[in-house]
Amino acid sequence: MPANPLFDLTGTAALVTGGNGGIGRGIALGLAGAGADVMVAARNEAKNAAVVAELRALGIRAEAVACDVLDLASIEAAVAATVDAFGRLDILVNNAGVAGGGRPESITDEVWDRIVDTNLRAVFQCCRAAHPHLKAGGRGKVINIGSMYSLFGSPRVLPYAASKGGVIQLTKSLATAWARDSIQVNAILPGWITTEMTAGVASGGPMHDSIVSRTPAGRFGEPEELAGAGVFLASHASDFVTGITLPVDGGYAVG
Ligand code: NDP
Repeated sequence: MPANPLFDLTGTAALVTGGNGGIGRGIALGLAGAGADVMVAARNEAKNAAVVAELRALGIRAEAVACDVLDLASIEAAVAATVDAFGRLDILVNNAGVAGGGRPESITDEVWDRIVDTNLRAVFQCCRAAHPHLKAGGRGKVINIGSMYSLFGSPRVLPYAASKGGVIQLTKSLATAWARDSIQVNAILPGWITTEMTAGVASGGPMHDSIVSRTPAGRFGEPEELAGAGVFLASHASDFVTGITLPVDGGYAVG
């Protein structure tokens, strides 16, 4: 049990998209450690099962649902599976995401749609599907995952940056819409975190060195370092906090 009841998530249920690895897994473990039951929703069922085993070892209820957030029916089924399994849905973590893009002049519509639909449209669809349950439980929390590219431009990842910039405005708009429903909607903006998404950069090379030298902490972050912000934004400790974007970035955004 957490020492401070403000951060105690016992009796709550969370749905974490993309919770089977990387940042989603880091946040899911944090929520479970604070007492939440957790539904992992992602496509790779072997990875889903591995994380469910880790979560159950923390003493909470954990389940997984095969979910492709590019498919609305799959999103709605994941929300329904959460309510079926745990009887409620209090915490929605919109973490599933894909990177990429290339030079703007050569980006195809297919690439644009895949990235923007995964990173932005699906976040809205998950929120819309979860809203009745978040409202009914009386303590709803939405945590959207942005990026440093929510703030900064890049010549290489235009659809990614556009989608992650959109996540901020989506967060602010839903925060204003749902505050009276006792639902807080906030975003975490991770800095550079060591995951499969960044594997090509985190291992070294000029881009790695430039990121590390630009980051005041002087290193990449680890997925588990997102857990603290996740628990805060999922708990009663943040009940009067809504519409914010919280960088967890080793100071990258201010360095
Ligand atoms: P990973 O590639 O390690 O994880 C991505 C996760 O998203 C996986 O669990 C994957 O599961 C899931 N996912 C991808 N597409 C879909 C889909 N269509 N349907 C359901 N799940 C999907 O990346 P990270 O952990 O690094 O990224 C997690 C989030 O954090 C993303 O939104 C990313 O943009 C953001 N982020 C990451 C940063 C970093 O430095 N790593 C920095 C800033 C933001 P599966 O393939 O099984 O479906």
